[in-house]
Amino acid sequence: MKVPFLDLKIQYQTLKKEVQAVVNDVFENTAFVGGKQVSLFEQNFANYCNTKYCLGLNSGTDALKFALLALGIKEGDEVITVANTFIATTEVISQIGAKIVFVDIDEKTYNIDVSKIREKITSKTKAIIPVHLYGQCADMDEILKIAKEFNLSVIEDASQAHGAKYKTLRAGSMGDISAFSFYPGKNLGAYGDGGAIVSNNKKLIDYSLMLRNHGQKEKYYHEIEGYNSRLDTVQAGILDIKLKYLDSWNSNRRKIAHYYNELLKNTEIITPFEPEFSEAVYHLYIVRLKNRDEVKKKLLEKGIETGLHYPLPLHLQNAYKHLNYVEGSLPITEKVSKEILSLPIYPELTLEQVEYVVKELKAIIYA
Ligand SMILES: *Cc1c(COP(=O)(O)O)cnc(C)c1O
Repeated sequence: MKVPFLDLKIQYQTLKKEVQAVVNDVFENTAFVGGKQVSLFEQNFANYCNTKYCLGLNSGTDALKFALLALGIKEGDEVITVANTFIATTEVISQIGAKIVFVDIDEKTYNIDVSKIREKITSKTKAIIPVHLYGQCADMDEILKIAKEFNLSVIEDASQAHGAKYKTLRAGSMGDISAFSFYPGKNLGAYGDGGAIVSNNKKLIDYSLMLRNHGQKEKYYHEIEGYNSRLDTVQAGILDIKLKYLDSWNSNRRKIAHYYNELLKNTEIITPFEPEFSEAVYHLYIVRLKNRDEVKKKLLEKGIETGLHYPLPLHLQNAYKHLNYVEGSLPITEKVSKEILSLPIYPELTLEQVEYVVKELKAIIYA
């Protein structure tokens, strides 16, 4: 049996007719930028997230950057986040001239350790970016409480958490402004690059609207310098189709994750922990084990692809040498990075495939 880490082909087959109709529509109209598809998707995604506004952009990375810029974060400011994330979360901080401040993670949830945020706050701290890693929300009540106490902004990086819930609230609806990515492999993925910000704050959205289109309010009249970061019409059309299925896909992911949990019970493998407050959408399914690299190699020999999210924490990357973090400065982040293994998960993965993965995994570990 072959178990790919991710298979987008099966899903495309089920969507082919609808997708081809929308692609055809956009192409026949030859209106490739802007248009009704974009505003319709923005409205529907804002509704889905339970926020007032959504603005489509060309990537999750730009969504994070625009969130920072709209909040007025600038050179010399400090932004608190984690090191066990994709570099997009942090590169935008440096690129606008602000300073990245890393906080260690909770060993059970792999999200920011809220008990360690306060000690990193200085007079320069302006914002916290909690990352809802692997599709599970960070402990937002605590984060919002700290933010209020120190007058900080909160930007949710919800790039892996479309549809996830914290208590009854959707990911993206709790911070001042939130970023989503629609990279093809995400829970809600376009057929190309895409991203969005959502917020209840009209000022932040209006400013981002200008940034998205070269700082224009009116064509060829530029209030500020901006960017070209529009969401393609065809991608918006495709995302709008896929949004209708997101809840059922997420529910499949949860079923798969819970089945993995059940089959891995009473083994030495550490399975994901979902706190009381969380309804995770399992963008990724992460286990922890000893001899991770060897197990990964042996699984591949059995036709099972796995991933590492992420093999080297950001504070130890060459790109961040100048920040002067040494090994041991984020002990939990570092420890976890050596033990994690991402098992295959996507909505169309079958229970038989899950059983095969676990059978082979157990055979390797208890050989
Ligand atoms: C995917 C991802 C991003 C970046 O999104 P792009 O659309 O690829 O720019 C940012 N943060 C996290 C946590 C992600 O997983």
